Amino acid sequence: MGKPTGFLEFERLSEAYAPVEQRLKNYKEFVVTLTDEEASKQGARCMDCGIPFCNNGCPVNNIIPDWNDLVYRGNWKEAIEVLHSTNNFPDFTGRICPAPCEAACTLNINTEAVGIKSIEHAIIDKAWENGWVKPQPSAVKTGKKVAVVGSGPAGLAAAQQLARVGHDVTVFEKSSRIGGLLGFGIPDFKLDKAVIDRRVEQMQAEGVVFKTKVLVGDKNLPAGINNDATEVVSAEALKAEFDAVILAAGSEVPRDLPVPGRELKGIYAALEFLIPQNKEVQQGIANPINVKGKHVIVIGGGDTGSDCVGTSNRHGAASVTQFELMPMPPESENKALTWPYWPYKLRTSSSHDEGCSRDFAVATKGFVDDGKGNVKALKAVRLDWKDGKMAEVAGSEFELPCDAAFLAMGFTNPVGSLLDAFGVEKDARANAKATTDGEGCYRTNVDKVFAAGDVRRGQSLVVWAIREGRQAAREVDAFLMGSSVLPR
Ligand SMILES: Cc1cc2nc3c(=O)[nH]c(=O)nc-3n(C[C@H](O)[C@H](O)[C@H](O)COP(=O)(O)OP(=O)(O)OC[C@H]3O[C@@H](n4cnc5c(N)ncnc54)[C@H](O)[C@@H]3O)c2cc1C
Ligand code: SF4
Repeated sequence: MGKPTGFLEFERLSEAYAPVEQRLKNYKEFVVTLTDEEASKQGARCMDCGIPFCNNGCPVNNIIPDWNDLVYRGNWKEAIEVLHSTNNFPDFTGRICPAPCEAACTLNINTEAVGIKSIEHAIIDKAWENGWVKPQPSAVKTGKKVAVVGSGPAGLAAAQQLARVGHDVTVFEKSSRIGGLLGFGIPDFKLDKAVIDRRVEQMQAEGVVFKTKVLVGDKNLPAGINNDATEVVSAEALKAEFDAVILAAGSEVPRDLPVPGRELKGIYAALEFLIPQNKEVQQGIANPINVKGKHVIVIGGGDTGSDCVGTSNRHGAASVTQFELMPMPPESENKALTWPYWPYKLRTSSSHDEGCSRDFAVATKGFVDDGKGNVKALKAVRLDWKDGKMAEVAGSEFELPCDAAFLAMGFTNPVGSLLDAFGVEKDARANAKATTDGEGCYRTNVDKVFAAGDVRRGQSLVVWAIREGRQAAREVDAFLMGSSVLPR
């Protein structure tokens, strides 16, 4: 610990945002990274507690106290080395991780947590600026070939780890770009796509081969919400050509809302809106859904709902309302009960701050037709929640103008056709069945086929996908070589 009294002297400092009116004019990132002096003071707040709960709260077990101390002392180069030792892509997590580490920070018991994520962001941005992030190609080649299906954070982390120990890795991706939901899904204002592309270049220099617009599976089966594929590779062909296959195909099936009027024009799954918007910003292909001047209702909270709110406001929607089925959470948690775990509390995203009316304990009952097959209003009812059970409040039905509705109620499971094509057994939630601990972890029931990320654990977070990709890589390496030097 650099400064024993740091936590008494310095306050938590959050990263600043560009003003709302400015950021709504474009899709650019708007978070202002901490200056060196700010990051140093923030690092000085870390007490390097004997038991670093933050390290346990972070799914990739980032060695947070060490790099906090290094940043406090201005030793940024060593800080990025420590950070990269546990996390392949701190540039992704430093931008969009919800930071469960901060909930677990000891300071968070009775004051405000260290701004861990903001320090992580500052370290990786400085590392790129200074040219410290370099390809690390393996000095020796094993001659083993590994296929990775899916180029989201799980697939990328697995591919990078495996290439660095000398395997020949090919990543297959059905979209026209690499990145999974980071590339097409999460808006550019949260994650600039150049951040992904420079990692792709780094990995290419490490020997990873990327094949976009290639669908793995069967062209006659459903391919998921975004399919740009012009080529199909069968599961059998992949198994025949490669020594191991990692399925990192995400969890793409959206939860639907089967209420009267669902079939009307103007009601979309969130990614039907967000993916074309990414393509418009990145590739200049116009989004067929434009909500300028429209009354938008987003159904469902969470990151996906927030991203629909932020994108609708950038379109210039007349109004944006977000409905949540659950009651409004408390503004702040009871820390005595929740620390060091992720607390249940009201979370207000930067997109909410840009303009959004939020309504809680509301259920959608149906949509109203304008007579031409378009949605013109949404019918809802208020809910009373008692002991975890909900009941409709009699007489509380109401109608709200609605020209566009986005369903952002999460994703239920991966596209089954890929798992079926490989003959992979599914768990009770229709995810690929594989454990994460013990012998044979990350392995499916099919010989030499592994699974990692949302395809295995269900809809989750980028940081969990990176963890699973890294851990699966270790298992694949051990499977191919008899043992592995890769970290778990
Ligand atoms: C709108 C939105 C916002 C989000 N915001 C956040 C956030 O702010 N912070 C956070 O931590 N998490 C966020 N998440 C969750 C996060 O993006 C995911 O948990 C994470 O991307 C999962 O990584 P993955 O590698 O397992 O799968 P994915 O990122 O889903 O990648 C899977 C890839 O596999 C490809 N694929 C699928 N099937 C095939 C096939 N048959 N052949 C070839 N390719 C195939 C897909 O095209 C996709 O590119 C968000 C999710 C969404 C939808
Ligand atoms: S990856 Fe997420 S949980 Fe881990 S240190 Fe970074 S912000 Fe915290």
